[in-house]
Amino acid sequence: MRIGYGFDSHEFREGIPLKIGGVTLTYDKGLGGHSDGDVLLHSITDALLGAVAAPDIGALFPPSDPKWKGADSVVFLREALKRVHDAGYGVANIDASLILAAPKIGPQAAAIRVRVAKLLGVHSDCVGLKAKTPEGLNLDNTAVAHVVVLLEKRRSPKAPRKTKKTRRG
Ligand SMILES: [Zn+2]
Repeated sequence: MRIGYGFDSHEFREGIPLKIGGVTLTYDKGLGGHSDGDVLLHSITDALLGAVAAPDIGALFPPSDPKWKGADSVVFLREALKRVHDAGYGVANIDASLILAAPKIGPQAAAIRVRVAKLLGVHSDCVGLKAKTPEGLNLDNTAVAHVVVLLEKRRSPKAPRKTKKTRRG
């Protein structure tokens, strides 16, 4: 088994859509950042990458690269998941804590869990999501996400490609 941990934070800005866990939430502000600012998907991506000791999200998708401006964070998650699978692992479960003053996540939590589960290829019972308000942290204009992920060994790691082709039969 492997364990991974991810952390991310983004600041709220007026006039942009709010995306959390690949779900667009109704709110008058969104999360700023070079991509779509999806604090939860970024945190999950880093947890997956960390679990297989791969370079982190900032190294793989540098904010300095205009290619990632406004990018859908699902792209980052898919690359991290591919690296997990290539290393011979699958996701067992994840657990996430979201810390934000508003909007209320409760009514949307089920939709976010279903979406994240689908992206990870697991049952929604394997996606934990808690939302908390930033009591005493003076972070009312910020969204923070902490994620832990557990990976299970599924098969041998992907072998490097052979130059010589062999035929069976
Ligand atoms: Zn981020």
